[in-house]
Amino acid sequence: MVFIEQVKRLKEENDILLVAHNYQLGVIQDAADYTGDSFGLARKVTEEEAENVIFCGVDFMAESAVVLNSEKKIIHPEPKAQCPMAAMVDMGRLRRYKKDNPDTAVVSYVNTNVETKVESDICCTSSNAVKVVRSLEQDKILFLPDKNLGNYIKRFVKDKTIDLWEGYCGTHDKISVKDIEISLKDHPQAEVMVHPECKPEVVDIAHFVGSTAGILKQASESSSKEFIVGTEVEMGHRLRKENPDKTFIFPGDPLCQNMKRITPEKVLRSMEDLRPVVKIDEKLIEKARRPLERMIKVGRGE
Ligand code: SF4
Repeated sequence: MVFIEQVKRLKEENDILLVAHNYQLGVIQDAADYTGDSFGLARKVTEEEAENVIFCGVDFMAESAVVLNSEKKIIHPEPKAQCPMAAMVDMGRLRRYKKDNPDTAVVSYVNTNVETKVESDICCTSSNAVKVVRSLEQDKILFLPDKNLGNYIKRFVKDKTIDLWEGYCGTHDKISVKDIEISLKDHPQAEVMVHPECKPEVVDIAHFVGSTAGILKQASESSSKEFIVGTEVEMGHRLRKENPDKTFIFPGDPLCQNMKRITPEKVLRSMEDLRPVVKIDEKLIEKARRPLERMIKVGRGE
């Protein structure tokens, strides 16, 4: 039986919702009930009634789903699918920074582990980061862990002092101006769209900068027929599916190996066995929920 049919049978038998991040293998995205960015997936889990959720993404994403949906069974098919950027936060250093800078608000990207969220005043996504930082009453901010996204926020928020953590996403950080320029020589009419996790010099030459959801929207709304895209290469799957008449080029084919640790075989095994379940201490869940809920309120304009 082909993968997609096995998934369909197991979804019905075991009351499963299958969600997949935009950087998951195309075959997994096609079998999923919902595909999206990390926070979009966590919110989707909240809206749906299924008792069991197979979460295809990296560790911090599955954790966020648990934090917002502690009554559901969140199953992560490969616990070793971990985000190296989220792991760049040293908790001892963060706690010392907070002690030395009591007037500074800690803003953490949702791409952080639950322990980091617990120490944060508020979270943000790549699409609401500027709005979240602007909403804070403090003049001093620590943004973590992604220095590239932090530098992007600084372009728009000039009236606050923003300290940056020295973290970065290896997949986006290696996207180079040179590779984009080489692609532009072959496709001079192409529109350049990049994720704000890219280096500042890459952001400088882009026509559009946005989250994965923003890139998808721009691709469908723009009159351009060719796009040079600066984000994880698997985004091409959905971009091409939703825009069959358009061309998408990914200079350097940036790949997140951690996302690819989740394979169709592991998804099926988890759907059969309903494990491994993501377990987080109840007290941590409660503390980590606060910065996420505060972010949601800012998003609603409360
Ligand atoms: S693409 Fe970057 S931020 Fe996303 S999981 Fe991979 S390493 Fe982490």
